[in-house]
Amino acid sequence: MLWQPLVKIIELKHELDVVLSMFAKEACKVLSVDACSVFILDETEHTYTLSASTLVPTLRSGMIYISAKDDLLGKVALREEALIITDMSKASSYSVLQTLSRNRLQSLLAAPVVHKGEVIAIIALQLNDKDKITESLQTDVATLCANLSLPLNRAIHIEDVSEQIEDKPQSPMYFDGVSANDGVQKGIAVARYNITDIEEIPDKPTQSDDEERLFISAVKDVKESLEEMLERVTLLAGSEEAQLFEAYLQMIDSSRFYDAIIGYIRQGIWLQSAIKRVVIEQATLFEQMDEPYFVERASDIRDLGKRILLALENKILKKSHYAVDTVLVASEVTASMIAEVPKGRLKAIISEHGSSYSHAAILAKALSVPFVTSIKALPISFIDGKEVIVDAYVGRIYIQPAKGLKSAYERLIKHESQKAVELQALKDLSSTTIDGHEITLKANVGLIADLDRALSQGAAGVGLYRSEIPFMIRERFPSEDEQRIIYQQILSTFPNKPAVLRTLDVGADKTLPYFYEEEQNPALGWRGIRMLLDQSNLFLMQIRAMLKASLHHDNLHILLPMITTIEEVKEAKQLIRQAYKEVIEEGFDIDKPRIGIMIEVPAAVVLAERLIDLIDFVSIGSNDLAQYILAVDRTNEKVANLYNQLHPAMIRTLYHLVKVAKKHNKEISLCGELGGNPIATALLVGMGFDSLSMNASALLKVKQVLRSVTKKQCRNVLKQVLKLATTDEVHTYLENFLVENDLGGLIRAGIN
Ligand code: PEP
Ligand code: MG
Repeated sequence: MLWQPLVKIIELKHELDVVLSMFAKEACKVLSVDACSVFILDETEHTYTLSASTLVPTLRSGMIYISAKDDLLGKVALREEALIITDMSKASSYSVLQTLSRNRLQSLLAAPVVHKGEVIAIIALQLNDKDKITESLQTDVATLCANLSLPLNRAIHIEDVSEQIEDKPQSPMYFDGVSANDGVQKGIAVARYNITDIEEIPDKPTQSDDEERLFISAVKDVKESLEEMLERVTLLAGSEEAQLFEAYLQMIDSSRFYDAIIGYIRQGIWLQSAIKRVVIEQATLFEQMDEPYFVERASDIRDLGKRILLALENKILKKSHYAVDTVLVASEVTASMIAEVPKGRLKAIISEHGSSYSHAAILAKALSVPFVTSIKALPISFIDGKEVIVDAYVGRIYIQPAKGLKSAYERLIKHESQKAVELQALKDLSSTTIDGHEITLKANVGLIADLDRALSQGAAGVGLYRSEIPFMIRERFPSEDEQRIIYQQILSTFPNKPAVLRTLDVGADKTLPYFYEEEQNPALGWRGIRMLLDQSNLFLMQIRAMLKASLHHDNLHILLPMITTIEEVKEAKQLIRQAYKEVIEEGFDIDKPRIGIMIEVPAAVVLAERLIDLIDFVSIGSNDLAQYILAVDRTNEKVANLYNQLHPAMIRTLYHLVKVAKKHNKEISLCGELGGNPIATALLVGMGFDSLSMNASALLKVKQVLRSVTKKQCRNVLKQVLKLATTDEVHTYLENFLVENDLGGLIRAGIN
């Protein structure tokens, strides 16, 4: 595909001007045109700056710009569509391109790069021969521009941020993202780097006088493994195929590489920064060459750099220095990065990428740590070591905050911790509305550590145990006995209360490293109950472990995820009966478990009347239900703005399900994120939910709402919300309801 190499150039992490001029040159070749110019939107001036052009090789950015009204090219911006002029001399208005090409190139094809409804750039191609503007060139350019939208927008943002940092490095700054867990905190940024992305490594001075020795020994390790690979590949595929490793070995010893790194170390530069510098210097040299062979060498250099960094990482004992008030920052914060921060030191988390439903987000919720993710162009190495404020209520982070802002936030943070103490006082009080209507509040549990938190927040049982976590952290399926021990811990923590254990719900975003097959569309694929019924031996093993774990507790509720058909429920029940019989025969004296289904799929909503007769209880998985009702991938950042569990269609669906459950006299609960969102509590109670399950950290907030409202008020909230047509209106109404009832502090620090 013609556009692919051109998009790759834009993704290179160099200065924007350099990247764009490489792009313009390459575009001429790939598209067979005589000139290419790129104009980038200047949002503040409302003009388009000529940022690269093969017509002006010595262009300095900002030298030439056009306004949409005055230049012919402006039509592209105003109409948001491509412009074709076969003879520029006859065009109705003037274009700067005529001057730049000295009227030699008479034909023009200019196309917009549009991002979120705005023309962020204009790509102008000029040709000598008008006949070359074929339909296929036009469609190629349209495809190219569509594919440039995201990477170019990102590159422009990064450039803006770097300019700001260069001009005023000490000034306060802020960045906006998406909240993955509410709260507000301040602390010192501690950056963690993903060594697969060399550019991310910060420039720092030497951290210890041991670095030259460390480097030499890491190089030795890498050379040994390369030699081994060379030998193995030569044997398997012949010396031709093994050439790559020879090239690596030569490169690693070369003065341009090895000596240059040693040189930087001796100048007092941190070892990792020294490696980054040399890798980028060398790779850039190769990338700017015309021959594809040399461009390939650039990726070899980067690969070699990563190998050395990995060897170093293995050598350096991971005693990273975490500040007592650590704000963890990374390109993509992972659950293991969070787990590495010593107990009590983690105050907040900031991530450039990642969804608010990732494992890292679930862990942050369990730990009650504010988390902002999806921050465009986050300058990670600049932030490292700086003071930051994380306001996850609005999804904003402040770097080097000004005094006034800092003290305002300090007051909010203090207010938040007072609030937490106040909430703690509710722990042993009943979860009843003012007029005595009781709602059971249970905890969602994934890690065994969540059990303590569930107890400390006064949970009335486990409403959802996500059994996949022990499967995810192993390298193989846990045995029946390993599973039994884990399940026993859960059932025995709440001996006289219900404990809902969900059967394995893997697939889509929750994959097992040892049992995974790439799928085109995993959210609609082999997940949850579908996989388990196909692999019935795994299902039976898990059910037997659950049944055996219930010995002496008899509080086991089995929950089946992703149910779509009647047959699935019948088949699963048949297997549960079989497992029960086997376990009884083995001599276990246990009660029959209660069996429930999760409603997460629209088909189950429609079939609810029929499904409900087959089971004992229903739990609504609003996370997936929203994903499938709204047709929005819950993990996709690009459509994150469309994902909202308070969408009016969701509200109607939930209400319908409650009515069906009540009609059939079946217990109904909700265990998705919505259940733990205090904004939704009155609405859910108004619908008639009498049980909610949530992350333990949300439990007391929800309890406070319950204890401050009457059932009648909740019914009125439902009535009013059912009249609203948009998600925004629903949010505003529910937020106002909390504020009017002096509960605003639950959704925003500092509000009573
Ligand atoms: C849900 O989908 O709402 C749910 C609770 O399950 P999970 O988030 O584990 O998919
Ligand atoms: Mg789910």
